Amino acid sequence: MANTINKPETGAEWSNWSGNQTASPSAILVPADLHALKTLMKTAPGPVRVVGAGHSFTPVAATDGTLLKLDRMGLVHSVDKAKKTAWVNAGARLKDLSPALEAYGLAFRNLGDINVQSLAGAISTATHGTGETLSCLSAEILSFKVLTAAGELVTVSRDENRDLFEACQVSLGAIGILVEAEVQLVDAYRLHRKTSAEPLADLLASAKTRWQTLRNYEFFYVPFSGYGISISHELTDAPASPREESDDDDAVLGLKRARDYAPDDLASRKQFLAGAFAEFEGENVIGNSWELLASERNVPFNEMEYHLPEGAALDVLQEVITYIETERPDVFFPIEVRKSARDDIWLSPFNDGSRISIAVHAYAEDEYDFFFSHIEPIFRRAGGRPHWGKLHSLTHADLTGLYPEFDRFCQVRREVDPDGRFLSPYLKTLFEPGTI
Ligand SMILES: Cc1cc2nc3c(=O)[nH]c(=O)nc-3n(C[C@H](O)[C@H](O)[C@H](O)COP(=O)(O)OP(=O)(O)OC[C@H]3O[C@@H](n4cnc5c(N)ncnc54)[C@H](O)[C@@H]3O)c2cc1C
Repeated sequence: MANTINKPETGAEWSNWSGNQTASPSAILVPADLHALKTLMKTAPGPVRVVGAGHSFTPVAATDGTLLKLDRMGLVHSVDKAKKTAWVNAGARLKDLSPALEAYGLAFRNLGDINVQSLAGAISTATHGTGETLSCLSAEILSFKVLTAAGELVTVSRDENRDLFEACQVSLGAIGILVEAEVQLVDAYRLHRKTSAEPLADLLASAKTRWQTLRNYEFFYVPFSGYGISISHELTDAPASPREESDDDDAVLGLKRARDYAPDDLASRKQFLAGAFAEFEGENVIGNSWELLASERNVPFNEMEYHLPEGAALDVLQEVITYIETERPDVFFPIEVRKSARDDIWLSPFNDGSRISIAVHAYAEDEYDFFFSHIEPIFRRAGGRPHWGKLHSLTHADLTGLYPEFDRFCQVRREVDPDGRFLSPYLKTLFEPGTI
């Protein structure tokens, strides 16, 4: 029933950003405050799932029960400028948190490609950016206030309810509702961004050194071109420079036109792409961190990203490229390559060492079965671990072998949610296969 405390959204249909996941929740509710949220936790039909921006490609947030959004529960609650920490609404969007924190002279140490996600959603899937010394976002969280299935608000940190804290750091929303998060921040900073077009061989040869020497480094390889774009960000005190709006979407649409114009004529396509790369001007701009690190992605796609052990990753990349360029002329999205530092979080893909992440994309209207049939096996043979919010086919049996603390996570999960209030059918395949 409509009321101002638990505001219902009209038409209880839900789909994620790319449209490959849909659900018909019995209710989509947006509680106004903690009291309303606690009441819902006790009474709402399960499975209870919280959704952030719906930017995951797997059904991690989907439910036919109750879907909750924490968008109305505030932004920044308190800031400790000396410690460079802040308590924030875990459901707030990164794009709103960044300017609000900048007003206190603070910033996230790192961000991914976009910043429309909720903080809790990003944390829950170990969302990452790129940088040899930079961890995924989950590693920046010092404490949570988490609402358990029993409707109890518990504060968790390394010093208080430690097991629950470890589990909450990357949890896919399976432990409890992350209501507030205490984030470790850094002084607000500016970055110098440079992009350039380079042959694949040069990108591969220089990758290791660039990760070691540049704060943020990544590259995109454009299939069927032999070329890619390198992107670096370095700290600077220099003033911000004028910057034109990013034309990433136009560039991707240009690649799509090249594919559509001559889908099977790879020689013409390569020639067209060579012309486009010859005209590539690159960027050389200075701006504040969050505006340069994150950009908009308006051409919808589906994505698989695996995090690979350092030693194997570039060979894996070449194998993936060979497969795509031999068998998949329909692919036009660039392949993204990034690196993240080691952390110690139970379900973080980076908890056994720094890893290099390789992401493949398919236009949202194109089929992507080949991710599972041909690309995922290449990733898996090399010891890859999947991004929790991106496409993969792994289930409980695979994951116990990949994560030493997986069973411990499942045990803590069962203890804190014995009736499976948070368990959607998809989450059962990951955490409680015996209950399916
Ligand atoms: C265009 C695009 C670009 C992307 N770029 C990157 C990137 O650069 N790096 C990267 O690592 N990933 C990237 N991703 C993946 C994305 O960051 C993750 O899938 C992230 O989880 C999405 O955040 P969200 O707020 O949309 O969460 P959702 O997808 O809505 O939810 C993700 C999970 O978090 C849980 N959750 C959400 N809120 C709460 C809460 N308050 N309490 C408990 N659980 C909660 C949900 O139940 C679900 O299990 C990208 C995705 C897209 C579509």
